[in-house]
Parts: sequence; C-alpha cells; structure tokens
Amino acid sequence: MAYSYEAQVSQTLFDRASLVTPGGVNSPVRAFRAVGGTPRFMVSGAGPYLTDADGREYVDLVCSWGPMILGHAHPEVIAAVQDAVARGTSFGTPGEGEVALAEEIVSRIEPVEQVRLVSSGTEATMSAIRLARGFTGRAKVVKFAGCYHGHVDALLAAAGSGVATFGLPDTPGVTGAQAGDTIVLPYNDLEAVRAAFAAQPGEIACVITEASPGNMGVVPPLDGFNAGLKEICAADGALYISDEVMTGFRTSRAGWYGIDGVRPDLMTFGKVMGGGFPAAAFGGRADVMAHLAPAGPVYQAGTLSGNPVATAAGLAQLRLLDDAAYAKVDAVSAELRTLVGDAFSKEGVAHTVSAASNMFSVFFTDEPVRDYEDAKKQEAFRFTAFFHSMLSQGVYLPPSAFESWFVSTAHDARAVERIAAALPAAARAASEATA
Ligand code: PLP
Repeated sequence: MAYSYEAQVSQTLFDRASLVTPGGVNSPVRAFRAVGGTPRFMVSGAGPYLTDADGREYVDLVCSWGPMILGHAHPEVIAAVQDAVARGTSFGTPGEGEVALAEEIVSRIEPVEQVRLVSSGTEATMSAIRLARGFTGRAKVVKFAGCYHGHVDALLAAAGSGVATFGLPDTPGVTGAQAGDTIVLPYNDLEAVRAAFAAQPGEIACVITEASPGNMGVVPPLDGFNAGLKEICAADGALYISDEVMTGFRTSRAGWYGIDGVRPDLMTFGKVMGGGFPAAAFGGRADVMAHLAPAGPVYQAGTLSGNPVATAAGLAQLRLLDDAAYAKVDAVSAELRTLVGDAFSKEGVAHTVSAASNMFSVFFTDEPVRDYEDAKKQEAFRFTAFFHSMLSQGVYLPPSAFESWFVSTAHDARAVERIAAALPAAARAASEATA
C-alpha cells in the first residue's frame, strides 16, 4: 500500500537514522513497521499537539505512550524542570526531590509502604521479580500472554506491546535458563493459575500481571480476576505483583489499585510518575522491601536512580493530578470512545471499543476480547488503513492495533473536533481495507 502524503524531512531523518541505529529507531514500535510508511520525527509538542520535522501538526493520541497526561510542555512541569536543571543535573547522592516523590507515591497508593526509584519500567519489573525471588527463596514466575513488562529477559515470553505488534515468538538472545522459570498462562483465566500452582506448590515466587493490560490493546481484567490472583498467591506464599507502569497515576489518583482495591504485595510504576523523564519505581510491603540492599541482601542499584531533574518533573506532574484532572481525562476519553465507535458503526465496521478507565483501544472484531488469543483474532489490517487516514488528517495514533490510546487534560474541544472531523473518512478507509 502506498501512502502519498508528504513526510520528506522525516524520511530524510529516518534514512540517516537507519544508517546508525538498528531499524532507525531507539524503540521498535516507533518504526511504523506494523503499519508501513515513514515514521514521523517530532520536533515539538504543546498541549495535545505534536509538530513533526515537516512542520505538520497532529493531535496526539499517544502521549509518549502514556506519560504526558497533562499534555506536552505543561508550563508548571517545565518550570520545575528548569528550576532543577539550573541547580545541576545529577549528584549521585541522596536528594530531597527523591524523598518528596517517594512520599507522594506512598501517600497516594496505600499498599506501597516503601518505594525504590529507578529509571525505567523495565528496571522496575526486573527488580521487583528479583526481590520476589530473593524474598521467597523460590525461582518460578507466572506471567500472562499478551502482558508486557518491559524487555526483562525472563518476561519477554509471549509478551505484548512491540512483541505482539511484530508477532515475535520468543526473542533470540533470551536463553532457556533465563526464561525456563517463567510460566506463561492465558490472561483472565483463574483456572489456569490454580492449575499451575497445584502442579508446583511452593515453587512459584510471584505472579506478575499488568493491573489492567494495555499492551495487547486494552483488555481489562474480568471481575474478580485480580482478587483471585491475590488469593491464590497468598494461599501458596507467593507474591502478587501488580505492574502499574502504564495504569499507575493514569487510571485514577491511585492507578488501577484505586479502581479495584486489590492489595498487591509489590507494585511497579513508570510513565506518568516521570513527567516525561526517565523515572520509575517499585514498592510495596515494607517487610518485603526491607530485603533490598542496603537494608537487606537483594542487590539493586542505579547511577541515575532518583535523578533530580526527573524527580522534579514527576513530582510537579503528580501534584497537578488532582481529582479534577482525572475527571477531565476520563471525560475526554469517554467522548472520544463514543465518537470512534459511532464512526465505525456508521460504516458497518465490526469493532469493539475496549476501555479501562481513560485508557482505550479499538479491536476490529465484534467478538469479546478477554485475552491475547482473542485480541489476535481481530482484523488488524483494517487498523493500518484507519491509522494512515487519521495520520494524513493530522491525528497521531499508536502505530499498532495492539496498543492503548492515551489522552490528556490538554485535549480540549478544539482537539476533539479535529479528531471528530477525521473519523468519518478514516472509518470508511477501515471498511474498504482488504487483508
Ligand atoms: N510494564 C508495562 C505495563 C508497560 O506498559 C511498560 C512499557 O510500556 C513497561 C513495563 C516497561 O517500561 P519502560 O518502557 O519504561 O521500560
């Protein structure tokens, strides 16, 4: 399929990038491989808009894959960053900003009694798994097909996000030894979890799950699923780890925990808590966290952990995220979901708009989507046509049918109108698409 609209400067940059960087990008889904065409090189962002290197403006429905919940270049976040930068960028010592950010997290999310700051969601999940193994003295880890927890070796088995987008089986470079203790189960299937525990009692260190998955598209937990996981873990002495890297501080003030109230032993965070900078965290029960060095024997460290600029950005963003901000994001999300659903219905396109709080995505099927196998049954080729029509009309969607869409407090009536104006032609393109 040829896409004719102009992206000359982006193409030139992509050609340059491809010479010096594998695939021309620093994270696979940015490369547009699933949808084809030229990835847009962005030069600036303001509120709900991004501007690319060719000078075209887009309404942004990616929001940096979640972090930019206040929109781009929010003045108060930028001011906090400028203030922090002016005082120096990294000291390799403790600093007050880290304490304040940790206090903010602990005060928002009741099960987090202690928290350790890291620089990426991958580091957070990797460290949480190590801690769970160190704490329990057990090796095995349960994860769910279609859930993505970053590119941790042991967790790349049947992962979502880019792994799902590219239909990769298991990644070369992950050895049998690294993945051998990972048990992959179908999502939303408590019987499968019970069977796994029954088959290896006392051997499973933890179950890690996305609190509400957004990396196979948005597939919320069925009623009682997270509570069931918690119960099964507790009965066997395993830890229940809720990965809130995507949902944390986005789906509510207290993330998905604020919605389902199921108390994890450990939790992981990233994205929103960094305000657009590399800041992430893992935390939970104080008796478990006490096993971390230097308090305990489980080693974990980072040169840039708790970086003063990143913590200043994250803290400024979190402090602006009050109930009114979440109400606004939820309202914009609901409005867009209706507009998107109506546009597809008008064109007779089989679809399901799947939402978890303000996160949502579209599956091109009208069958229920409860797990990764269901998600893969959708007619993803329709997404390609839809995506390019939206892009050509100035709306930037995630370049994959298996990713959540994100909105922000900055998505105002004008931004929504622009999306609404683009939808009819894009829905038509989806309806006319062929596999
Ligand atoms: N966990 C979840 C649920 C995620 O969505 C992601 C990233 O998308 C990660 C972990 C990894 O985070 P990072 O990309 O910051 O390493």
